Amino acid sequence: MPSPRNDVQPAAQPPRHGASTEDAERLTDSPCSDSGSPHGGRQKSIVSDVSHLAFVALGANLADPLAQLRAAAAALAELPESRLLQLSSLYRTAPVGIRGQPDFINAVAAIETVLDPQQLLDALFVVERRFGRRREFHHAPRTLDLDLLLYDQRVVDSPRLSVPHPRMHLRAFVLAPLLEIAPLCRIPGRGTAAAWLPAVRGQAIQRLAE
Ligand code: AMP
Repeated sequence: MPSPRNDVQPAAQPPRHGASTEDAERLTDSPCSDSGSPHGGRQKSIVSDVSHLAFVALGANLADPLAQLRAAAAALAELPESRLLQLSSLYRTAPVGIRGQPDFINAVAAIETVLDPQQLLDALFVVERRFGRRREFHHAPRTLDLDLLLYDQRVVDSPRLSVPHPRMHLRAFVLAPLLEIAPLCRIPGRGTAAAWLPAVRGQAIQRLAE
């Protein structure tokens, strides 16, 4: 299979999976938060007064990763006290870190939730375990990897959880699908997600057709 090139464009693509048109339009206009106005003012949440907007990265490179990603998206739609707002297109990407393992399939999901960040991470772990995730070594191949990228514009720095995900701005396989569904997205402490695209130009990534 040929390695993917980087064919990511900064312009927004029309949302393709999952969301209602209304949810998709609200995401497209959102800075990814309930408080992320470019001018620092508090904005009303795009979801509700009590729920939060989270973005989750999905990745798989074992055991039919395309099917794994689709099944994982279905599992995210069943998370407790949460709603799957939008799933990006699927992307094929070259593995980071360790060469010689299969390409990854990646996507990003937007989730409305009333869970707090730690509860949401725990719920993601439950899904990972259901998909047989093994944590053998850093950068190891995986049936399913779920990372919590953003939770409103909150910063969380605990032993178990760092939000925003500390390396999300350096990964084409995060930025491309994230910007597809939330082109105005901001990363706390790092400015707009779009501003980081030039930094990942060299990373091989290919958006897959439906
Ligand atoms: P990984 O094996 O790369 O998926 O890393 C999983 C580990 O990272 C777990 O021990 C998590 O508690 C920790 N972690 C810290 N921040 C995050 C985050 N934002 N999303 C997912 N896992 C995280």
